[in-house]
Amino acid sequence: MRSAAALTGLTTVTLALLPITGAAAKTTTPGTAAAVSSCTTPSASARTASAGVHKRDKNDVSPAQAAALDRELKSILARRPSIQATTPHQVPVYFHVIRAGKGKKGDISRKRIDQQIAVMNKAYGGSKTGFSFVLKGRDWTTNTKWFNAPDTYEKTLKTKLRKGGAGTLNIYSGALSDGLLGWATFPWQYKSKPAMDGVVIHYATIPGGSITHYNLGQSATHETGHWLGLYHTFEGGCQKPGDYVDDTPYESEPAYKCPTGKDSCTAPGKDPIHNFMDYSYDTCMTQFTAGQGVRMQQEWTAYRG
Ligand SMILES: [Zn+2]
Repeated sequence: MRSAAALTGLTTVTLALLPITGAAAKTTTPGTAAAVSSCTTPSASARTASAGVHKRDKNDVSPAQAAALDRELKSILARRPSIQATTPHQVPVYFHVIRAGKGKKGDISRKRIDQQIAVMNKAYGGSKTGFSFVLKGRDWTTNTKWFNAPDTYEKTLKTKLRKGGAGTLNIYSGALSDGLLGWATFPWQYKSKPAMDGVVIHYATIPGGSITHYNLGQSATHETGHWLGLYHTFEGGCQKPGDYVDDTPYESEPAYKCPTGKDSCTAPGKDPIHNFMDYSYDTCMTQFTAGQGVRMQQEWTAYRG
């Protein structure tokens, strides 16, 4: 079940916000972003949150798997027409609330669901990714077992509730364990496991939720980034090709809280702590880069379009 400690020790840290650096932060380009020998791939321990902060999810990919997937993506795209960076895609969304009961734990109102979708549209629209989200349906399921262990019952509940095809986003909310705030399937997984496709979030991460520092709705933004094919900005550490996006500076480990000035690799650029695909507080997350927008468009074309 969810770790109570992880949810109660969140008020002892301070926030520090930087202005968005935007294009100025995009300093790594192919050919200049060589691996830096003084940095290493982050260890398992480096990816574990310290007390009072959240690891967000379990969407890590091994370097070997990422390399194989990159070859597959390039192979598919070679057979497709060129992709415009900001081609508009209106993604239909179905929001599935799993709750302990009406008015009980995990219940989320229509208004809160609308607010969650608005947060996502602001995030993806503000960064001009081309993606927007249109709520097509919402449903509420009372099931204490599913609510308390959505990972255990994931296949069962998704098989029952999921709607649409590869280009339809299904979001499920429940009480996630181990302090996790969410998880997502990647686009390339749809072809082998279509019923499992989608995003799962902790119910208390939606706007107005009870998890301090993580209750502005950016968990859904982050997990949807995975659903659209993005890796964490710290994926691959300081080593090329990192997260397979050229304009996100290298980062040796996740950012927790909002660590202004963090610069964990000697490669150009400070750590992208304000990026939606890092692990920072919701208030600290403000941007996708243009390169991430391109990658999402490529992944969409290859696997969801
Ligand atoms: Zn993640």
